[in-house]
Amino acid sequence: MPELPEVETVRRELVTWLPGRRIVSAARVEAPAGPKYHALERAAGQRIEAVDRRGKFLLLPLSRGDELVIHLGMTGVIAQERPANHLRVMVELSGPKPRRLYFRDPRRFGRFLVVPRGDYRILPTLAAMGPEPLGRDFTLEDFATRLERQAPIKSLIMSQRPVAGVGNIYCDEALWRARIHPLTQARKLSRARVAALRQAIVDVLEASLAAQGTTFSDYRTVGGESGDYLSQLDAYGHAGEPCKRCGARLRRIVVGQRSSHYCPKCQRR
Ligand SMILES: [Zn+2]
Repeated sequence: MPELPEVETVRRELVTWLPGRRIVSAARVEAPAGPKYHALERAAGQRIEAVDRRGKFLLLPLSRGDELVIHLGMTGVIAQERPANHLRVMVELSGPKPRRLYFRDPRRFGRFLVVPRGDYRILPTLAAMGPEPLGRDFTLEDFATRLERQAPIKSLIMSQRPVAGVGNIYCDEALWRARIHPLTQARKLSRARVAALRQAIVDVLEASLAAQGTTFSDYRTVGGESGDYLSQLDAYGHAGEPCKRCGARLRRIVVGQRSSHYCPKCQRR
């Protein structure tokens, strides 16, 4: 699933050519009406003012006070070339080529909708999201306060409330780097371990961003390239293989219905 490095990679590509373009039309294709595509047609006639990001959401403020919100879900891909299948949204733009933006999403967890700017009542995850991990608001003090909860650290990070944009892959990677078991109660973490986790999150996201993210199956850059971080993953997807730090076999458990990969020796509960 695309997380912060993947979505930021997409944003950096879109920001080079989308701002200033007027949306001629925005329409669903092979996708039923519903909350995932809320008020999409309202984008027509409005100019794209910027391409921003909050966590895993792309936010495109529009000229008449609206905002186009895009979430790639599990398998969403934004492309300039028309995909062969699973096309959900087509956006027609003014100006020079490329004049089309396509949203492909085989598993349909993605969203492509319009809301009044900053009004995230129908997007509760976005409304309650913690600070950006690569911004200056992600302080140790604030992070420690947000972790004072009765919940496994893995589940709490995945909720996006302590910090924005960290999903399954980078949560497992950061916990491995910080030597924290995924089921550890968040509020029981010492200040030193919270500091280690905070730094691990920053480090792993920056390293992945430098590689344009991780591609397992669907994620692609707008230009159709794969992210290169897969080969650098230490924990995620490596169950049964030796830990690069201590040699013990990595394990996989399910936490909150998601796979968690960890080292039983260096990430003790
Ligand atoms: Zn280990």
